[in-house]
Amino acid sequence: MTFDADAKMQLLFALRSKGVTNKTVLEAMEKIDRGAFIQGYFSDRAYEDTPLPIPCGQTISQPSVVALMTEALDLSPRDKVLEVGTGSGYQAAVLSQLARRIYTVDRFSRLVRDARAVFERLGLSNITAFTADGSFGLPDQAPFDRILVTAAAEDPPGPLLAQLKIGGIMVVPVGQSDTVQHLIRVTRREDGFHYDDLRAVRFVPLVEGLGKD
Ligand code: SAH
Repeated sequence: MTFDADAKMQLLFALRSKGVTNKTVLEAMEKIDRGAFIQGYFSDRAYEDTPLPIPCGQTISQPSVVALMTEALDLSPRDKVLEVGTGSGYQAAVLSQLARRIYTVDRFSRLVRDARAVFERLGLSNITAFTADGSFGLPDQAPFDRILVTAAAEDPPGPLLAQLKIGGIMVVPVGQSDTVQHLIRVTRREDGFHYDDLRAVRFVPLVEGLGKD
């Protein structure tokens, strides 16, 4: 799983210049070719540190934000992770390098289908993708050690909080889509939920129900 050496250097340089220093996260991002997740017009910009359009009016997140969210999850190799918002599948692929099992869901079946094909092509066999409204989590697979939401909710969805193990961590952008959102880390302890504000971000909104495509 290697991709063009110059492109890789360009992306890693961009990440380092944005202050991404976590070695295991950088190694995971070095292994996963972002170009495999972007088709068509924007594919030649895959190694820039910028969000890009993907089908169904959605976006693949900016690599430095993928790095920040991955780092904030503080993954361990035995973790079972839920990602809400498969999109292109890139973030799930990065997570797959650092945890045991990744469940990822998107409300658009087209995105899930495309992402599954890329996971298969790259041999990422520890990711399972479903079409579902992720605001309800995945009750059949719960509880999770880590939950990552890659679409902005007004508040961390209750069913997701309920599906987080004690000792678990959830990272979620919170706020309305047309205003500044904040990336929040929720840690569940015996005595309840603890919240840290990580930084301002901009994500597409978490939308209820399944998409048309
Ligand atoms: N993690 C993605 C980027 C996600 S963009 C990547 O690496 O490319 C946000 C995604 O969240 C979109 O694909 C959108 O369809 C999805 N989404 C929005 N609301 C959702 C919901 N309620 N359930 C599941 N997916 C949702």
